[in-house]
Amino acid sequence: MTFISQFSNPDKNGFFHGFGGMFLPEELKNVMREIAQAYEEIKDTTAFKEELAYYLKEYVGRETPLYYASRLSKETGGAKIYLKREDLCHTGAHKINNVMGQILLARHMGKKRIIAETGAGQHGVATATGAALFGMKCCVYMGEEDTKRQALNVFRMKMLGAEVIPVKKGQGTLSDAVDAAFEDITRNYSDTFYLVGSAVGPHPYPMMVRDFQSVIGKEARCQILAHENRLPDYVVACVGGGSNSIGLFSGFINDPSVRLVGVEAAGKGLDTSEHCATMAKGKPGYLHGAYTYLLQDSEGNPALTYSISAGLDYPGVGAEHSMLKETGRAVYETATDQEAIQACMQLSRIEGIIPALESSHALAYAIKLAKTLDKEKIIIVNLSGRGDKDVHIIQQAVTFE
Ligand SMILES: *Cc1c(COP(=O)(O)O)cnc(C)c1O
Repeated sequence: MTFISQFSNPDKNGFFHGFGGMFLPEELKNVMREIAQAYEEIKDTTAFKEELAYYLKEYVGRETPLYYASRLSKETGGAKIYLKREDLCHTGAHKINNVMGQILLARHMGKKRIIAETGAGQHGVATATGAALFGMKCCVYMGEEDTKRQALNVFRMKMLGAEVIPVKKGQGTLSDAVDAAFEDITRNYSDTFYLVGSAVGPHPYPMMVRDFQSVIGKEARCQILAHENRLPDYVVACVGGGSNSIGLFSGFINDPSVRLVGVEAAGKGLDTSEHCATMAKGKPGYLHGAYTYLLQDSEGNPALTYSISAGLDYPGVGAEHSMLKETGRAVYETATDQEAIQACMQLSRIEGIIPALESSHALAYAIKLAKTLDKEKIIIVNLSGRGDKDVHIIQQAVTFE
């Protein structure tokens, strides 16, 4: 039962081919070093692996199916499309995989209080869920604007016993919530653990979150071999911070025949300023303690970003993805709001699965790709989450006769 993958770890300073690191004040660096050390100590122990495996199975509901979308594949008229059903995880998305791993680490470190940042509220809800499960105090930082846009998720977190702290600084969105969480951990690190929601930020988070999400790729690899007796030709996942994608990619990274495709949100189009296509339009810079690809304004500050899917709306990307882009091992494509909505409607209608708008970006690209491929080719798409949370947004974009 090994859920932790061992491939391409960063160097001891947390760099993946020059990307990543710990660009933080000294006191915060010490906090990160302590987390890295605690993680190294427990990650390969039988006790930790068995405990994590237990919660992933009995609480999260793993393993998730790898489902052959035969009607979608037929209608598309090209390659076979398989869906990795992370939408069936408890709380409705892949984020809980990472929450379980980090919360067990926090407990091992003797921490009593969990803090998290959240944008749309998905990671906040997953963290509040984990904290409730283990009886830990939970405090979620959320930009004030986001608390208004996502009032239902704020209420959910409160139902789960978490405290939600609106952040008024800056634009009152995700980046400001991250800054507030860093301030909190600087003051309170003796009893507090910062549970980061994606494979971003300073070392060791990109590596640790990748390891906790690698269960997606590990399962998918076994499952496709069982279904098809061969590896897929492509694996496709959406990229916000990059955790569901790196989790899927990690299962296939040592299989050179498998192409890894990340799909970013092109919003209203790459020729507008309303997108969050970090790889397509950004360049390397510093964000939240790491050196990585970043959308920047003319002064080099993180740019304002936009996507119809709040989970993809982030100006940076995890350091390991920056490495995969530079080495060419993965490629990064985009899908617009419109394309995502269309893919979401198509999957709902033809397979009876309403996907999250984030996942719909991956699906949109996969459908486009499948049309160009022969019928015996195989694509795995990570269906990172379910779309119930997005129905009110889709309602504004779609009308029925
Ligand atoms: C948060 C979220 C994402 C984007 O985050 P990654 O770290 O890039 O995976 C994608 N899909 C869903 C359903 C999400 O909730």
